[in-house]
Amino acid sequence: MSTLQLSCPECDASLNVSNDVEEGGIFSCSDCAEELEVRARSPLRLERAPQEEEDWGE
Ligand SMILES: [Zn+2]
Repeated sequence: MSTLQLSCPECDASLNVSNDVEEGGIFSCSDCAEELEVRARSPLRLERAPQEEEDWGE
């Protein structure tokens, strides 16, 4: 399986991401542990995953 190399948008660490990662997939940076979301696949683009909102309701 091939991997893609990206930079963490938070700490700029080099990340190896599986080539078959899905749009919307979330993983953690191995360096800063920030949760990152795949926002687009072509070209591959990462953003910090949105924080969970506390307003889940009952
Ligand atoms: Zn990072």
